[in-house]
Amino acid sequence: MKVLKFGGTSVGSAQRIKNVAALICERGKNIVVLSAMSGTTNTLVEISDYLYKKNVAGAKETVNMLQAKYENVISELFDSEEYREKARKAVGENFDFIRSLNKEIFTLFEEREILACGEMISTALMTLYLQEKGVNVALLPALDFMRTDKNAEPDTEYIRTHLKALLEEHKDADIYITQGYVCRNAYGEIDNLKRGGSDYTASLIGAAIGADEIQIWTDIDGMHNNDPRFVENTKPVHELHFEEAAELAYFGAKILHPTCVLPAKLANIPVRLLNTMQPEAEGTLIYNSPGSRSIKAVAAKDNIISIKIKSGRMLLAYGFLRKVFEIFETHHTAIDMIVTSEVGVSVTIDSERNLDAVVDDLKKFGTVTVERDMVIVCVVGDLEWQNRGFEAEVVNALKDVPVRMISYGGSNYNISLLIRKEDKVRALNLLSKALFE
Ligand code: ASP
Ligand code: MG
Repeated sequence: MKVLKFGGTSVGSAQRIKNVAALICERGKNIVVLSAMSGTTNTLVEISDYLYKKNVAGAKETVNMLQAKYENVISELFDSEEYREKARKAVGENFDFIRSLNKEIFTLFEEREILACGEMISTALMTLYLQEKGVNVALLPALDFMRTDKNAEPDTEYIRTHLKALLEEHKDADIYITQGYVCRNAYGEIDNLKRGGSDYTASLIGAAIGADEIQIWTDIDGMHNNDPRFVENTKPVHELHFEEAAELAYFGAKILHPTCVLPAKLANIPVRLLNTMQPEAEGTLIYNSPGSRSIKAVAAKDNIISIKIKSGRMLLAYGFLRKVFEIFETHHTAIDMIVTSEVGVSVTIDSERNLDAVVDDLKKFGTVTVERDMVIVCVVGDLEWQNRGFEAEVVNALKDVPVRMISYGGSNYNISLLIRKEDKVRALNLLSKALFE
């Protein structure tokens, strides 16, 4: 059995829902994870925002607009009035529920309940559509098996046993459908796996049932070897190691959610990225043992801030780095890149939020320099250090670009370079030319 996850754009209109339905029917007995139709979760966030602000009119108007949108989807999706009526009822229940939350006190709990509705609606529509077509489909409610523990981490044992029981209960079904993103927390309350969390759902389900494969269906043909927005003729990478995929996902390759990689990797289940618009394209296969020793892809992450702390006190001293890192910890600021010398250390962060407080504290230990508008360019591949020449190729490609930091050897899979924002597009193109042409 496989797990097939379809993102918001893949189910973004009545026509797309029909396409996905055809696609999943061809592929046999699998578990299908759906996101909310594109735009819906954002609209639900907006509705919650109005309710937090006690703007009842704003909330009502937005709810009505969203419901009208679904009204159109329903008219177009179904053939019979009978199923249109069923769909209106199912969708309407969600909207009635949202309207009922317009209470005196609006909190995080109510917001989470609202956010869950997007996936409830998309799965209800798909289930009814398949039923109208005569498919024996079972809707597995995510709220009955997807659960997080007291640390907000997935409760894998709970997920495994409850999902198994549900599958057993519906063992004659041809296809299983479930909601991505939605879960219950340790207290049994409705919660979610954070924005973009449907990939995570798919990965957790895959690990729970020991799936043959986890397929993430989006609207591009796999992970590309460079950013198609800035570089022409990028190509899909056919095979990636999980570690390479994790680096790329973090460094801006938007197609796979970073958290998604871990459960699949640990359970040793391959993840395949596929394109709903072009189902026959090979896509990208991510697994634990791709063979080739090569550079696979380049990605870039914007809005990086570098901080340099220079201090005579660092020379031959121990404990200096600990003190520096403690400051970042105190201010809940994650460090991305780090390079050190005998007299200084440079780090990068990707958020301005606690920058002033961090810098204030760092000044106790040395001279601090901050540079904004930087970009991390990350080159990913099988860069095991005994393989000769890869780092030279990368540095050589950028010989005419000012490079502020280089980080190599932190893992076997990545070289990161910090450059100025204005050099980004040039750097990405130079790298593509040198590494992939
Ligand atoms: N619908 C949720 C979101 O937009 C989850 C997902 O699409 O993965 O964040
Ligand atoms: Mg998404």
